This record gives sequence, C-alpha cells and structure tokens, in this order.
Amino acid sequence: MKVYFPYEIVRDEQKKLISDIAQAINENKVLFAHAPTGLGKTVSALAPAIAYALEQKKKIFFITPKISQHEIVLETINLMNEKFGLAIKAVDLVGRRSMCIDPMLSTIGYSSGFYEACLKKKKSKQCQFFTNTKGYTIKQKNLARKRKAPLLKEFNKSHEEIKEMCYVHELCPYEITLELTRGADVIIGDYFHLFNDEIREGIIAQAGFGLGDVIAIIDEAHNLGTRLVDMLSCSIDIRELEKSEKEAKNTGSFDAEFAIKDITKEIERLGGVLSLQRSSAVIPVEELDMLKKIGRDASEKISLAATKFIKKYDAQGAFLLKVEYFINRLIREKEHTLHVVERKNSLGVSINPLDAAEISENILHKLSSAVLMSGTLLPLQMHADILGARKPMLKEYLSPFPKENRLNLFVDKTTTKYSDRSNEQYKEIASEINAVVSKVPGNTIVFFPSFELLEKISPYLTTGRKMLKQEREMKNDDKHKLIHDFKLLGSSFGGVLLAVSGGSIAEGVDFPGEHLSCAIIVGIPFAKVSIYTDAMIRFFEQKFGSGKGFEYAYTAPAISKAVQAAGRVIRTETDKGVCVFLDKRFSEEKYRKFFPKDFVATKTMNSGKNVGEFF
Ligand code: SF4
Repeated sequence: MKVYFPYEIVRDEQKKLISDIAQAINENKVLFAHAPTGLGKTVSALAPAIAYALEQKKKIFFITPKISQHEIVLETINLMNEKFGLAIKAVDLVGRRSMCIDPMLSTIGYSSGFYEACLKKKKSKQCQFFTNTKGYTIKQKNLARKRKAPLLKEFNKSHEEIKEMCYVHELCPYEITLELTRGADVIIGDYFHLFNDEIREGIIAQAGFGLGDVIAIIDEAHNLGTRLVDMLSCSIDIRELEKSEKEAKNTGSFDAEFAIKDITKEIERLGGVLSLQRSSAVIPVEELDMLKKIGRDASEKISLAATKFIKKYDAQGAFLLKVEYFINRLIREKEHTLHVVERKNSLGVSINPLDAAEISENILHKLSSAVLMSGTLLPLQMHADILGARKPMLKEYLSPFPKENRLNLFVDKTTTKYSDRSNEQYKEIASEINAVVSKVPGNTIVFFPSFELLEKISPYLTTGRKMLKQEREMKNDDKHKLIHDFKLLGSSFGGVLLAVSGGSIAEGVDFPGEHLSCAIIVGIPFAKVSIYTDAMIRFFEQKFGSGKGFEYAYTAPAISKAVQAAGRVIRTETDKGVCVFLDKRFSEEKYRKFFPKDFVATKTMNSGKNVGEFF
C-alpha cells in the first residue's frame, strides 16, 4: 500500500506503527495504539490514511482535543502536498462558539446556552452573519452565493485565518467552515464533531458523505471515554431556576413561568432525602418520572420563552437557555445514566451518563476504519471495552527515546493511602521531596494527588528554591503566566512547581529541555470517592465482569494520570531527566502492571542519592 511519508528518516518503531495503521485502514478495522511521545503519531497516521483516502475516495476525520495539534496536522498536510505534488485539501474545524463573531453571543460563558441561543437566532432570522452566509429568500440566497464564493476556495487555512476573512466579509465563520468540508479530503476537528449526533449530522449533511466513507484518526484517545460522557452530562439548580422564572415573567411567558415553578417544586421534593449529614444522593430512576413528565410538557413553552427573552434582552445571561438544555437532556437521555440530587450552594439535580459506548459503539462500527492513539492508552483492552469497539486491533509501541536519558525511581517508603495519612507521613514525604530537589540541577514539578494534599504537605517543604503553585481554579491567562515564569527558572538556579496529577499542567503542557529536569509524583492519584465513582465501578463490574469495575473506574485511570504527569519530563530525544514515584504502593504488582511494557524503574529507599548520581 502506498504511503505518503514526507520525511527522510523513519525509525523502526515508527515503521511498525505506520504498517499497523495501514493494515487497520485497509482491513476496515479499529486500531487502539499506545504510541509514546516522539514516535511521530500524526504523520504516521496521516501518511497511510491519505494514500488510502485518495485512492478509495474516502474522507479523513482527524480528531484532536488540542487546538495546537490542529496546526501540526495542517503543517503535515502542506508538507505532503509539497513533497509529493499532491493537492490534499484540509479544513480546520473548531467549536461553533469559538468561531462565532456575533458580539452578543460570543461572550456567553457556557457552551450549551450558546448553542441554543445560536439556533434561536438562526431560526428567527436574527443573525445577520448567518443571513449573509445562507440567506432565507431567493434574493438573499443569490447574494450569499456571490459573497461567500471566494472563501469557499480557502482550504488548508487555520480557523483563525478563516475567522478573520469572515469578519471582513461579514459571514458566519462556522457555516463557511462547514461548507468547506464538502470539498475537503481531511476534516480536522474535536471529539464532538464526530461523536455528537447533531453536530456530526450537520457536517455530514453539508458534505454529502456517510460514516462508511470516513477514516477516523483520534488523537489523545485516552480521554475519549470521559469526554463522551461529559459531553452529555448537565445539571440545574434552584438558584438558576429562580432566575429563569424571572426571565419568563419579564417576557410575559406565564405558562413557562408556571412550568419552571413546577420543576422547582419537583426538585425540592427530590431533595427531601437530603439532610445535614447527607448533601447528595442517587435518585432512583422511578423517582424521576414526574420530573420527566413536567419536562416533556414544559419543553416547548420554555423554548418559546427563551426565544422571546433573547429577542428582547441579551442572550448572555439567559438562564432559560440552561433550563431548556437540561430538559432536552433529561427527556432524551441514554439508558445507563446516574441522576444525583445535591446541595452545594443551592439544591440541584445532575444527569451523568455512565456508558460511553452508548455514544461511540455504533459510530466506531459504521466508520470505514478508525485509529485511536495516545501516549498513554493502557490497558488497551480497557479503552476498547469502554468505547464498545468490536474485534479491535490492540498495539503497544516502545518509546523511541534513549533509555539512558531517563531515570525512573519507585520510592519504597511513604504513602498517601487514606488510612495512613498523618502529619508524620506528610513530613516524611516532604523530606524525600527536599532531598530529591537538592540534587536536581534545574526545574522540578511535584505532582500531588489532590489540592488538599498539596496544601497539607507543602508547609513542610524546605527546598531552598523558588516555589510556584498551581491554584484550584486558575484562569487560562494566570496558568500560562505561571508556566512561563516556571520555565524561565529552568535556565537559572532551578525552581519547584507544585501542581496536581490529572490537572491541566499534568496533561497537555510540554516542558522540553531545561524547562523540566525532574517530576515527582506524590501518591497514586485515585479519583475522589464519590457517588459517581461508585456508580462507575458498579456499572463496569456489571458490564465487563468481576474485578473490572475497580480496575477500569479506579486503578488504571489513576496510574495513567501518574504516567501522564511523569511524561512531562522527556519530550524530545535529547531531554534528560528523572521521574520519582513517591509512594510505596507503585511497585506492587496490582499497580505496576498498568505501566508501559518498556517502563523500567529502580526501587529505592534513598531517592536523593540516586538522583544525585544520575545527574
Ligand atoms: S450563526 Fe454563526 S455568527 Fe450567527 S450566532 Fe450562530 S455561530 Fe454566531
């Protein structure tokens, strides 16, 4: 099979990856690939996929949650075009909210509300950009055709570039991007572009192809299951309902106002099971019948009230949109869903789907083929099970980086195990961190399993280095500044960043070269015990058999988070660094088995000494 690989050198392990991807595409299979950083996953997937797609007239969906990755896909495609004289056309899709140039809607803080508001503006012919792009009357349609014609040739441009062009021409960037998909060979998007039924159907309807014509390449696939269930989760509370009730009243929508009162009463009734000692509880399915009935009866009334409210006022704070979204989710929910009534700031109800396969199984089955890849996709069978892949190919590849550049240590003392937590334990953990940091000739990140433990252990740290700290809820700008400041410390004396495993610094941020020399993973980052984790454990146990519940919902994701965090240290072939796993449980077989097969660690009681010798 032809492969458009645009570089001179291909490594042995990369050759295996390309060959397996080519096989999966040729044989219409679903491949799960654990492919560590540095293997060149993007080009390895695109090279065979593009060759097959051009030959067999297929489309490629390149799905990645990272916007920065969209640029890399575009660059790779441009390189292939140049090197092989091809004319592959790609389109860069991001969410409708990020593309919107309507000054009023683009500031709506939550995506579900934005989505409903945009639909309403289009239906009520109130968005001038949409009218300019699509038109409603024959005259408007003709004008729209002329106006957008030059933009419909703009392939291989980033979404930012398309957005700027649309500003100039006063066109809706999202609709223009959707129209571009019709002529595109490669569509670069996020998970929801493929897995959200409405959004996917919108794209497919525009582009005129079926799922059977699609080769899906899904990057960062270790997050797919969680993202799919998150996509359909939502909640509403009494405070939001009260605000929406006022909005309904202000627009004279009295039937909606009364319907919202009924929803409020029903949520208060469901909250009757809570007490001072019990702030959350599972709602048995049969207990939800009344709320669903009220929701079904109220759906249209609330939708009309929301439309009126947006016309009359501003969509930005429209709580009616949130209520409408909640009701729509409730009455169309999937079979395996957990409902929780909870008192936080206000009493509320949340809808939490448990089964990602209810969303992904059919889609994966209908695709021409799919490649799901990630640097941490272990255990492969678990990911395949959770997503409902039938007869998948499961492949694990080795890291291409020199082994001698990385030292992994399993420290055989201290633990953050709940029953063993004490101030003495925290002091001991801090003393081990101090000893390691003193031997690192550069930057160290200490990843704690939770903010709570970060707060408890950090007062005992005396590293003598500048210490920076990740905060619980950081705005994006503050986080970028924190990372920037920390990286600068790497070129001087070296600093220490206190962060949490599983947080935004532990995943998706690169610290190449001198930006990071050491990562210390304190404790095993298990999910917090909660009603939701319990329900997931029970659900997986029931679906996949004895022992799988705990493994799939609790143990494997925790080790995956630890490995992800440790993975920040070595990002390029020349990086050198140390990963210290600071909890005696890491070396137990029940946890050790979830590490990659080429992962080698030294057990130690004196990690400071080992680190000093390594550097
Ligand atoms: S149609 Fe386009 S420009 Fe108008 S509100 Fe929706 S996304 Fe924004």
